[in-house]
Amino acid sequence: MTTSETLFTRAKFPDGTLRTVTVSGGRIAAISTDDVFGGSGQEVVDLGGRLILPGFVEGHIHLDTSFFGGKWISHKPCTDGFDVHERVAFQHQNMAIAEPMDVRARKQLELCIANGSTSMRSHVMVDGSVGLKSLETILKVREEYRDLIDIQLVAFPQSGILRSPGTPDLMDRAIGLGADLVGGLDPASFDRDVEGHLNVVFGIAEKRDVDVDIHLHDAGTLGVFTIEQICDRAVALGMQGRVAVSHAYGLGDIPQDAARRTAERLVRSGVSIMTNAPGAHNFPPVALLRAAGVTVFSGSDNIRDSWWPYGDGDMLGRAMTIGYRSGFYTDAELEAAFDVVTSAGASALRLEGYGLVKGAKADFVVLDAEHVPDAVVAVPKPRTVYKAGRLVAQNGKLV
Ligand SMILES: [Zn+2]
Repeated sequence: MTTSETLFTRAKFPDGTLRTVTVSGGRIAAISTDDVFGGSGQEVVDLGGRLILPGFVEGHIHLDTSFFGGKWISHKPCTDGFDVHERVAFQHQNMAIAEPMDVRARKQLELCIANGSTSMRSHVMVDGSVGLKSLETILKVREEYRDLIDIQLVAFPQSGILRSPGTPDLMDRAIGLGADLVGGLDPASFDRDVEGHLNVVFGIAEKRDVDVDIHLHDAGTLGVFTIEQICDRAVALGMQGRVAVSHAYGLGDIPQDAARRTAERLVRSGVSIMTNAPGAHNFPPVALLRAAGVTVFSGSDNIRDSWWPYGDGDMLGRAMTIGYRSGFYTDAELEAAFDVVTSAGASALRLEGYGLVKGAKADFVVLDAEHVPDAVVAVPKPRTVYKAGRLVAQNGKLV
């Protein structure tokens, strides 16, 4: 008889109860508190009282530019303070000496999956310098890993849109080729034309009916001004819930009352905020934004690349970093940090069938922790990762 259902017994849920999760056809068919013993055609996996958590959501990563797993490439500081243009130039130099992109992307994906990410949004460079080559490579890699992780790809104009000839057309073609979202990059400081930049981004979004995720490093009121423009565009096109601003450092630079006003605008416009709580940098006030109702999600962003040498592809560790840098101490605050890398991420990415609930995709992580707050501060390993109810990674490696 073929196995049609799998019973995951003695799964400790975040509320401390031991339950049995029945998985059928890759989905959670039932969650029961009874001791269930497998019948015919049912495989039984005893989770032994370990904590079960929903698969982590890696909401912002760059699969095309990481050197993770390859030879070490030392970080080169900018000549005079931080300069996005110079960093992009360094990136081009580094890409020329790194391993082939597909090799690097696989290594980074395997790192993320082994750490428990079952869904991901990756920005892939699309501009006049690389054309659609990076996207073509990452699309192939995505296909190879389709049973292990769900991946959304963003057409990311790393060299700007207006400053890099041909980029608007390339971004549009990127969507036709298989990218899921249209991206953007610092409309004011990079392209020096907020209107012109957003015309292209939202023009493609409207034409192709795709979501938007814009990199915005601009600080202070310039960053906040741009956020307001993005909010207005989202409302004008009826794209509430389909637009994200990544980094949004400006929100961390302004006074709290101003941040609260912007937060209300973000909520009204249904624009979510991605932060990876980077070191030595102001970042959005996570608690303030969440209290206002803003969807705040997170990602590893850069891992061993031309921007910084940090990153480990561990979204549970990312929750710890967010909590640590936000001064989160109470259980409720630690649970909020966890929400950022799980449910809030799922909502920002508009993932279908997410969570440890009946009917959801059977994507989950099993590890040793008392409960969620303990998991966030301890960042325990080893982990066992299931995608659609199938074991995909164990002890830091794909199976
Ligand atoms: Zn990024």
